[in-house]
Amino acid sequence: MKMILLGAPGVGKGTQAQFITAKLSIPQISTGDMLREAIAAESPLGKKVQSVMESGALVTDEIIIDLVKERIQAPDCRSGFLFDGFPRTIAQAQALIDQGIEIDCVVEISVPDAEIISRLSGRRTHIESGRIYHTQNNPPRIAGKDDETGEELVQREDDKEETIMERLNVYREQTEPLVKFYKELSSKSGGKTGYHSISGLGDTTEIKDKIFSILDE
Ligand code: AMP
Repeated sequence: MKMILLGAPGVGKGTQAQFITAKLSIPQISTGDMLREAIAAESPLGKKVQSVMESGALVTDEIIIDLVKERIQAPDCRSGFLFDGFPRTIAQAQALIDQGIEIDCVVEISVPDAEIISRLSGRRTHIESGRIYHTQNNPPRIAGKDDETGEELVQREDDKEETIMERLNVYREQTEPLVKFYKELSSKSGGKTGYHSISGLGDTTEIKDKIFSILDE
């Protein structure tokens, strides 16, 4: 299964990705996580992308396409993968087509902007594992600490309020056109690439159930 989770930052793609990858036994490919790991490792790639990421803008298509091309060669991608936060531009989606990669299923998750702003500003992350918390909606047992390791949780630089609006603007301008792109691809392919749109409002389990029923169709 080759699958894409599409949606603005904060709609819950990362949270749902954890359920889907466990159900389907496929890896989650989060380009955002890969870039954050590169920054944490202070690699040349990390140094190149850090300031762009912190500003809320997108990293260049060239960098992202190279990163993904290499990642999907890995043996764990043989039976498929789940893209989370990729593709984010038409050029990235087109690169998949150019490489002959056929996506089986696109699930778009949507949430109103006001809710996104509240979710992102309260989001706290355990960098090492990618575990996500929320100061109000999903607090850790001990404030500021990861439940499993007790390590410090951090607020992503780009989850600070001043950057959130910029990320939403970037989503509207550069990523939202993919909704039309994949809807058209779905009808052109006679449904071979399935397109499904769901609301990301409500509790995590409810949303998971909606996605699982799409996958079980
Ligand atoms: P995310 O964790 O998916 O919200 O990504 C965090 C940041 O990483 C984004 O705001 C971009 O700066 C960068 N990034 C992640 N994925 C992509 C992508 N597919 N294309 C361009 N930039 C990306």
